Amino acid sequence: MKSATDKKTSILIIYTGGTIGMVQHPQNRTLVPVSFEKIQEVVPELKRFDFIIKTITFTPALDSSNMNPITWIKIAKTIERNYTQFDGFVVLHGTDTMAYTASALSFMFENLDKPIILTGSQLPIGMIRTDGKENLITAVEIAAAKNNGVSIVPEVCIYFDFTLYRGNRTVKHDADMFSAFRSVNYPALGVAGIDIKYSNEFIYRQENQGILKVNTNFDDNVVILKMFPGINQNVMNSILNTPGLKGVILETFGSGNVPTSRWLTNCIKRAIKNGLIILNVTQCEGGKVVMGQYQTSLELMNAGVVSGKDMTTEAAITKLMFLLGQDLTPDEIKIYLNKNMRGEISE
Ligand code: ASP
Repeated sequence: MKSATDKKTSILIIYTGGTIGMVQHPQNRTLVPVSFEKIQEVVPELKRFDFIIKTITFTPALDSSNMNPITWIKIAKTIERNYTQFDGFVVLHGTDTMAYTASALSFMFENLDKPIILTGSQLPIGMIRTDGKENLITAVEIAAAKNNGVSIVPEVCIYFDFTLYRGNRTVKHDADMFSAFRSVNYPALGVAGIDIKYSNEFIYRQENQGILKVNTNFDDNVVILKMFPGINQNVMNSILNTPGLKGVILETFGSGNVPTSRWLTNCIKRAIKNGLIILNVTQCEGGKVVMGQYQTSLELMNAGVVSGKDMTTEAAITKLMFLLGQDLTPDEIKIYLNKNMRGEISE
């Protein structure tokens, strides 16, 4: 096994912002991002790695609440431009929307054969109890890890709190705890203890390896519509009749259920007839949509709603935006939504 400290190994760290590099604003005490140089000052350990580490900093550094398809594309193009020169990539990113960015990146990269590891922290890196140091150092180690010259994790991942996750299976589930992320429907790809133990059987390797291709078009004419008891016709109609709207993630109860009210079924049928693509995902963190299991989802299936099975909402919305941005027919989009592209859905 090639060690992570091999001299020829080179890692590109892309610092986009997030709490990991934030300090308290002197006037209003809010947390605002600072430059990567400041991060390096407090993590001298990075210099002790025996491989080449280069850094690119986004200007301005962003709170991840300000991420969107334009910034996802910026991250992807930065990796594409540097792809041949580096063995792995670490993306420092705010935790709030990290699961969305990881999902979006996973769909954009075709024939990926190097690690793209997103990480960040819950406490700024300059604070004594920060989780940022460990997250950053181990993410670099994972991005560098190879076996017989081949990257161990050629996927878009999130590394956080000693655990390596598939990015498009992850959700941020806790705003306070260091264990901020979870992947309920898919096992961890690795765990960091004294050694980093990889679960090779769960790691995704893209088939048909060829030259890297980065698809960078997204269509943001989409919405996430979360069902709740008491949702009314007026609200539902005005959302589904939004001018220009092309796709809807319907976040449903349990295994894909909605109220059986006639108006609701008619509303959905009308929307689909008018060309809207509707994808059903569950509000639950674990489990999957099984349309037709209950009467409350049978109508959706009959109306032509697509099952998102066990996809996270984060993966579903970014996948929908991605597919709508490609040169595909509505029928092709529906087929892709329901099947596995990058390990985001169980078949
Ligand atoms: N608001 C921050 C962000 O997502 C939170 C964090 O980094 O943990 O950029």
